[in-house]
Amino acid sequence: MNKDCIFCSIAAGSLGTEFVYEDDLCVAFRDINPKAKTHVLIVPKDHIDSVFELEAGTRTLTGHLVYVSKLVAEKLDLKGFQLQINVGEEGGQEIFHLHLHLLSKF
Ligand code: AMP
Ligand code: ZN
Repeated sequence: MNKDCIFCSIAAGSLGTEFVYEDDLCVAFRDINPKAKTHVLIVPKDHIDSVFELEAGTRTLTGHLVYVSKLVAEKLDLKGFQLQINVGEEGGQEIFHLHLHLLSKF
């Protein structure tokens, strides 16, 4: 937990954010500034800055996050969706706590 990180605070439940999904490894919640009709962020509970910081011990986490995208899509009854990960400032990343964007026009 990084006390200065908003996604750490959200994932810890400190901000009272409503979760679309939660398990022992991650949470999913709606983006505050949605870029699509459905825009959910899937966020690991452990703080990892970005894909650049993945290493042997954390790389399987990304597979779990992709799996969770399927669970969220099923829960929201989506028939299709897009996944996006912004990596680094030059990749458009604004919040340096690893997350997947799940986007759908439905
Ligand atoms: P990124 O550019 O990949 O770092 O995306 C960060 C995303 O987090 C943006 O789409 C923001 O709208 C979203 N965001 C920032 N603060 C919050 C918050 N408190 N709750 C939900 N989404 C947020
Ligand atoms: Zn964090």
